[in-house]
Amino acid sequence: MPDFEALIRAVPDFPKPGVIFRNMSPLLADAGSFARCIDALAEPWQGSGVQAVCGIESRGFIFGSALAQKLHAGFVPLRKPGKLPPPVVSVDYALEYGVDRLEARNDALHSNERVLIVDDVLATGGTLDAACRLVDAIGATLVGASVVIELDALQGRRRLPPAMRLHALMHY
Ligand code: 5GP
Repeated sequence: MPDFEALIRAVPDFPKPGVIFRNMSPLLADAGSFARCIDALAEPWQGSGVQAVCGIESRGFIFGSALAQKLHAGFVPLRKPGKLPPPVVSVDYALEYGVDRLEARNDALHSNERVLIVDDVLATGGTLDAACRLVDAIGATLVGASVVIELDALQGRRRLPPAMRLHALMHY
């Protein structure tokens, strides 16, 4: 178990009843733990030729930008709708009630650029799957994805591209 796991707080019934929210703010606020978390996120991808880290809004920006520095890669934000000026590429995905969308600039990645996607939590997998489709739609090469936490019971991994390499630092 990573030593920084103790700084991830379980918050019952947030943002709605029945959900246990994993709050990572105490981990981010602790300099040593944050650094060790980024080291652990980077370790599986050293030497894999990652050229760009795509972080999913919003907590994926925090982990993703630090990880990009560690991997000597660029950082590209995958954003919620309406935040980026056109032209953008969009991918819709289903939520429990309704739909959401991720967007990126269509010139944010070069054709065949080697991309790692990063988010804080993999839950049902809808968000990360949409990010994979977005990177694919832009024409970049998906090397894999990293999350800090995978919520195993929700089986989000099953929604992702079958051949994709997925690394999770922690499992609940
Ligand atoms: P999914 O699409 O896999 O169901 O949900 C993943 C998205 O929801 C991630 O972008 C993540 O930020 C957010 N999320 C879901 N559950 C949690 C949680 O327990 N803690 C945190 N920090 N984020 C969560």
